[in-house]
Amino acid sequence: MSDRRQPDLARWNFSLNADGHLVLGGCDAVDLARRFGTPLHVVDEARLKGAVSDFRATLSAALGEVQPFYSYKTNCVPGVLRLLHAEGVGAESISPYETWLAIRLGLPGDRILYNGVNKSLEGLRLAAAHGVRSINIDSLDEVERLRSVLDAARAPLRVGVRVSTGAGWKAQFGVEVQSGEALEVFRRLHAIPQLVLSGIHVHLGTSIESPDVYVAAARAMMDLRAAVKQSTGAILDHLDLGGGFPVPTVREFGLWDTVFHKRLRRPARPPDPRRPGLAAFAERIGATLRARAAIDGLPVPAVFVEPGRALTSQAQVLLLSVGVVKRRADGSRIAICDGGRSTCAAPLGNEYHELILANRARDPGRVTHTIVGGLCTPGDWTYVRKDLPELAPGDLLAVMDAGAYFTSFANDFAFPRPAVVLASAGQARVLRRRESYEALIAMDEEPAPPRTA
Ligand SMILES: *Cc1c(COP(=O)(O)O)cnc(C)c1O
Repeated sequence: MSDRRQPDLARWNFSLNADGHLVLGGCDAVDLARRFGTPLHVVDEARLKGAVSDFRATLSAALGEVQPFYSYKTNCVPGVLRLLHAEGVGAESISPYETWLAIRLGLPGDRILYNGVNKSLEGLRLAAAHGVRSINIDSLDEVERLRSVLDAARAPLRVGVRVSTGAGWKAQFGVEVQSGEALEVFRRLHAIPQLVLSGIHVHLGTSIESPDVYVAAARAMMDLRAAVKQSTGAILDHLDLGGGFPVPTVREFGLWDTVFHKRLRRPARPPDPRRPGLAAFAERIGATLRARAAIDGLPVPAVFVEPGRALTSQAQVLLLSVGVVKRRADGSRIAICDGGRSTCAAPLGNEYHELILANRARDPGRVTHTIVGGLCTPGDWTYVRKDLPELAPGDLLAVMDAGAYFTSFANDFAFPRPAVVLASAGQARVLRRRESYEALIAMDEEPAPPRTA
């Protein structure tokens, strides 16, 4: 009989070797941990490439040729970004640093999008000088700021507007469509001769579970596109639907989890495998765009997307070693690992990620564990009430789907950040070294030379 709590490894398409060890990119996870030390991030090259081609094929089948621009902040490891760019994926930047890095990695300007809610003069100048594919203006104030950097531009400069349509995240992002301000921003941009009006941008949230959000936004964007045409004569060539596409094996915690899992300590529930997949999102969006374009008598716009987690989440695994196991009176155990939320696993505080005992993955035992990192705060838990074979010091745990927001949210609170390795066809190499103690103080003022007596 299958145990409902036993994770179904087939959902990740991972294999186990004869020793019952998890295999990543053809490498035995136990060997990788021994060779490179833990905590350790392992990127599986074949899975990363597969994720890009599946994502592109699924969207393009319903939407025509779709341009993906990877959200740099999601996993800003240059070795990972290089692999994505080699597969034809562009860069989505929200800061001058990210734009700089994309250029440094050799991307031409027209494969970079520049977003951000409070763009600095430095950021605008850099984007203008490199002629990025679109600078997505986020407010009326930014129009004036953009005007002041136009001498740096490789004219003509392509611009879009990030809008807030009422669908998805509201908060501080974009210019409201309802108030008429979005159209006003387009009019002002149109009046600046060095600019070309290029697209409309939204970013609606993350781990979005229903296509309805995208459909509602796409309708409002198509209406705005028709209004821009009427008011300025410009035909915007693309709609940028942002990121937020879900990962089937990851679930964002909601209100239930906050109350029942985090507070009342009920076991967390894995994601429902019947949730709509990417194909359903693409079909609904495609139907909306075609229907609206026909009504407006305008060509169907090209679609840009800015996937973060959908491209990289499943291609990376985080390995942690168990150092200490404590027994509790209720029969449960506390396992203390060499990495926790702060050092390497921030998303575990608000997302469900499966956990595999990587050195004994076929072991059927079940004991309830709380798993924590090594910080002196009760907040450094990674798993609450997780049933696993009884853990012992030296065991190796694999946090699945660790390729989005794990490396980028890591910090150096008391411990250096872990290494990132790439595993491919049985070979492994370092993409990012473990942070050294020297690196941790490299930006600090030079200490005065020791005084000689
Ligand atoms: C973070 C971000 C993304 C990526 O979001 P995911 O949910 O990881 O796909 C895309 N676009 C913008 C503007 C973002 O801020």
